[in-house]
Amino acid sequence: MRVPIYVLNMRGKPLMPTTQRTGKKILQEGKAKVVKRCPFTIQLTYATGEATQPIKLGVDIGYTKIGFSATTKQLELISGTFTLRKDVSTKLDARRRYRSTRRGRLWYREPRFLNRNKDEGWLAPSTRHRLASHHSLVKKLKSLLPISFKRVEVANFDAHKMQNPEIKGIEYQQGELQGYEVKEYLLDKWGRKCAYCGKTDVPLEVEHIVPTSRGGTDRVSNLTIACRTCNVEKGNKTAEEFGYPTIQQQAKQPLKAAACLNTIRWMIVEQLAAEHTYGYVTKYQRTKLGLEKSHVNDAFVIAGGTDQERCRSYQVIQVGRNKRSLQLNRKGFKPSIRRQRYQLQPHDLVKYEGKTYSVKGVHCYGTRIILKNVKGQDKSVAINNVELIKYGKGLIFSLC
Ligand SMILES: [Zn+2]
Repeated sequence: MRVPIYVLNMRGKPLMPTTQRTGKKILQEGKAKVVKRCPFTIQLTYATGEATQPIKLGVDIGYTKIGFSATTKQLELISGTFTLRKDVSTKLDARRRYRSTRRGRLWYREPRFLNRNKDEGWLAPSTRHRLASHHSLVKKLKSLLPISFKRVEVANFDAHKMQNPEIKGIEYQQGELQGYEVKEYLLDKWGRKCAYCGKTDVPLEVEHIVPTSRGGTDRVSNLTIACRTCNVEKGNKTAEEFGYPTIQQQAKQPLKAAACLNTIRWMIVEQLAAEHTYGYVTKYQRTKLGLEKSHVNDAFVIAGGTDQERCRSYQVIQVGRNKRSLQLNRKGFKPSIRRQRYQLQPHDLVKYEGKTYSVKGVHCYGTRIILKNVKGQDKSVAINNVELIKYGKGLIFSLC
């Protein structure tokens, strides 16, 4: 599949991307230099015109994965899936433990309570991280392409229409679309599988935990998702009688991911100055185009994609800048959090004797590095003998 080459002008501003063939030609003629290998980006060494076409960016916001796709009228220029970090809260717990241990070595001090206010607009760290990630992704894409229009899918369901989804149920819904939204909400909540047998990839139905005939309501807290077989088999029994006592408790808990996204989705729309759309619109369009469900395809549809020629997608991950580890190996010093940053860091890619290796760590006060898997084992080499290919921190792109 097509892999576009991203082009920057002399001042580092993005131009329209080019094909591999043209990119290669420009490089061979010495009219450009390589600035990044993945996604492959070149910078022109001569001044050019800056004619650009309108580029639409679509972002499928998510709790664990973000889909993105940018299109012109004819072509898809970049697409991919961005996997968010899951370790934010565990890392913060570790930090808290480190601090607590450190403070434990000091004299006792009475706890203070005056300093425990939360600022207005405070977000939980994991939520803040999700918000920041959407920003850094869009910033990154804007550094590669002259994006002129952004559209974001805020959620599968329109919560403004649904009011409070946990309290109001189907009875309040009017029209067919809104009924559809309740199902989307439930599908998200129950992980798109039958709540009873756990089957996926079968047609799923909205199911009453306490049947309506037995006084069950249409509220979302009484609804779950079940396959046809389970639904029929359960018949007039409640979930508890059917042998699933925990279902009712589970149904009462609001969707965690939805709660997190509820907090940030409008912030994303506002801060990115983007238009917004809803999942049910995307789903309708995607089905019409005959595309299978994926974050990339959703983003493509959100970006207004129809019959554009697609390109190969990227997979994007985030790598932390530093391990929060205590430095214990320095004689005569108290253990402290490592703050020393060397030229190279773990996960950076370097060239050594004509081959590419990943850096495992730096030692000897930054003069030597350890390379991963050189002829089957780790090897220490002088830092002057290697050439940096790319940093292994921040947003890491790789072709899927
Ligand atoms: Zn089932």
